[in-house]
Amino acid sequence: MKLESKIKQTIQKYKLCNKREKVIVAVSGGKDSTVTAYLLKKFGYNVEAFHIDLKIGKYSEKCLGAVKELCSDLDIKLHIYDMKKEMGSGMCYLRTAIQAKSGKTKLKNCAICGVIKKWILNKTARKLKASKLATGHNLDDEAQTFLMNIFKGSPQLSANTGPISRNISDKKFIPRIKPLFYVAENDVREYSKKKKLPVVYEKCPCAIDSYRIQVRKFLNTLPTKEKQNIMKNFDKISGKIQKVKNTRIEYCEVCGEPARKNICKKCELVGV
Ligand code: AMP
Ligand code: ZN
Repeated sequence: MKLESKIKQTIQKYKLCNKREKVIVAVSGGKDSTVTAYLLKKFGYNVEAFHIDLKIGKYSEKCLGAVKELCSDLDIKLHIYDMKKEMGSGMCYLRTAIQAKSGKTKLKNCAICGVIKKWILNKTARKLKASKLATGHNLDDEAQTFLMNIFKGSPQLSANTGPISRNISDKKFIPRIKPLFYVAENDVREYSKKKKLPVVYEKCPCAIDSYRIQVRKFLNTLPTKEKQNIMKNFDKISGKIQKVKNTRIEYCEVCGEPARKNICKKCELVGV
């Protein structure tokens, strides 16, 4: 099936969004979120874009440039979050400080960045009164996450994933949607090139030595069909693992954002 039809089908089948509600697309400047914004706009959804300027040197400058170009070409309203202004420092500095703190040195770069980005995304999407938050996660990302959770012996960590976040209904939590959930990374890359979209193809310079990279390397030895099969397994067991997952939401005592414990993951990392 062609990429556009596949994404349309995912949006309809899983009721990701409708044309009346406001969808904020989290755009990084990379191919996946760029294609997500491009297609949601093309299909006529009510989209605005949100970019976190992580302030990772030249790399972030290029990402910001690409995102600005995309939004001006497509007439999409763009909201920018400046890490230095909002949090006092860029991602590199913040991460190094967290790693230097006692016992936190084994935390990987991408894990820290991921927690902080998620926190910013939910908080901002809510502030912007969005009813959905769209990200560019593709089939490869999802297969990696699912396998990583299996390797850790914790498939239930995948319980709430899917093209639309499940089991979390809380007024402070903005549901996340992933229109590219069933689309292979190579197909997204090819499409973005065919459409000549402004995309930064290089990887984030901080994405080193993560467990995800090892799993990605392994998955890249497999054909797309087998990656799809991994997610078919996910579809088959997702009903079962949801039952065992504790989905109770609390509010973080420090920042007031939704959390699984009394302190959210971001405040646990950054400290009070
Ligand atoms: P990653 O965690 O880097 O694999 O990114 C996953 C998704 O998060 C992307 O497809 C984007 O939708 C979103 N995202 C990542 N980085 C940013 C950023 N700097 N600003 C806004 N959204 C982002
Ligand atoms: Zn918090």
